[in-house]
Amino acid sequence: MSQPSIFTRIMNGEVESDLVYEDDLVIAIRDINPQAPIHILIVPREPFVSVNEFDEGHAAIAGQMLVAAAKVAKQLGLDQSGYRLVINNGRDGGQDIEHVHMHLLGGRRLGWPPG
Ligand code: AMP
Repeated sequence: MSQPSIFTRIMNGEVESDLVYEDDLVIAIRDINPQAPIHILIVPREPFVSVNEFDEGHAAIAGQMLVAAAKVAKQLGLDQSGYRLVINNGRDGGQDIEHVHMHLLGGRRLGWPPG
């Protein structure tokens, strides 16, 4: 069996984090290496490796990631100024940690297209 991801270790209390939101399905923490003034990671408690594992049975979890994003954006005062939600998926998507997570970036004007 593969090692627990850093996010699972955070959820288990083995690694410290700056938690900004949690519910039954997801947690949200501050990214350790922020790419914007506000950079949050929204992570399902269940350790899916990537979005590729999602099917109709995971609609509640996938949806809750967006619900949590909306709540966190409001909580941190980004709902009016705007923000970006990103899921890096697989090698070409630039995914480093093999536990699905959504980045919420805000607090500055973000460039487009992404690199
Ligand atoms: P990705 O490249 O999409 O897999 O994103 C992984 C993100 O996790 C990066 O932005 C890292 O800075 C972030 N990260 C790695 N370790 C930690 C940690 N212990 N706490 C918070 N964020 C982390």
